[in-house]
Amino acid sequence: MKRALVCGAGGFIGGHLVKKLRGAGYWVRGVDIKSHEWSPHAADEFKHLDLRIEENCRQALTVEGGPFDEVYQLAADMGGMGFIHSAETEIMHNSALINIYMTDLAAKMGVPRYFFSSSVCVYRDMKHGEPEMSEDQAIPAHPDNEYGWEKLYSERVAMAYERRYGMQVRIARFQNCYGPEGTWQGGREKAPAAMCRKIAQIEDGGTIEVWGDGSAVRSYTYVSDMVDGIYLLMHSDLHGAANIGCPQYVSVDELANAVAKVAGKTIKIKHVSGPVGVQSRNFSNDRIASLGWQAKVFLEEGIKQTYPWIEKQAKARLVNGK
Ligand code: NAD
Repeated sequence: MKRALVCGAGGFIGGHLVKKLRGAGYWVRGVDIKSHEWSPHAADEFKHLDLRIEENCRQALTVEGGPFDEVYQLAADMGGMGFIHSAETEIMHNSALINIYMTDLAAKMGVPRYFFSSSVCVYRDMKHGEPEMSEDQAIPAHPDNEYGWEKLYSERVAMAYERRYGMQVRIARFQNCYGPEGTWQGGREKAPAAMCRKIAQIEDGGTIEVWGDGSAVRSYTYVSDMVDGIYLLMHSDLHGAANIGCPQYVSVDELANAVAKVAGKTIKIKHVSGPVGVQSRNFSNDRIASLGWQAKVFLEEGIKQTYPWIEKQAKARLVNGK
């Protein structure tokens, strides 16, 4: 039986990845600084460890009959724009430490395959209508936030260790990911979850606030497509970073209206000032598509899976007063 370590297993994508790997027959150890809120027992074994500490990374990687066959590194100090723009130093400090120690020890302890979760935040801002950017166009680099710079640095750390130690490194640059069991409140949630929550909390005909003028363009990738992409990439020979994202691009206002449609509510949008991030995104998925990956769940279908889950959480919060 193959054994996998998932770092960040208490989080959104890590939690779904644990289930995917177990479904594929793996023995899985999950590691995180916190438990998974909704699926705390998904992994065969779960360790609470702060991966900013080198000794804890060693503990995470140590397993009887080791090393692990595969290590998936998804732990990060992470959130949507609200978090990213206000927590620059935490991101640069915490996520960099996690990646430095995890990559160094995994390579030295003989892990044969290592996955690193990067982000399309490594790319520069784009104008509306610009042609697709491919992975190599991330350099020369000009990410618009420190989260992107940290990812770029950690990608390079992983590639350096691949060159020196021969550990096979696979790097995915995720587009925005959404789905059930993701952060939906508290300031770290991303736009799709925030829209679902806001619309769940208003009456039909009510108003929601949207940061910026609503024209910023993004694509949103449903979590099952994301973990399928991670799995496929990890088991491929594809060196260097690969974008994983749904090719459907929408503005923030279109996202809000897509959620309202699924909710069966008419909404008014009030644009307010707030952190927006880049104006536009448009990336090539040719590399990941070369492995046979394609997005299966487009926005409306993905929101149909996500909205009822967030609506249920929001109602439960009202009842419990939390
Ligand atoms: P998440 O916040 O739900 O999961 C990250 C997990 O890392 C959390 O459970 C958190 O507790 C854990 N963590 C943070 N600091 C830690 C520490 N010191 N020690 C141990 N664990 C720690 O985020 P996610 O959406 O599941 O993202 C997973 C990965 O994918 C992250 O690396 C993120 O940067 C990347 N990513 C996500 C998206 C997205 O849209 N969700 C987009 C691009 C990249």
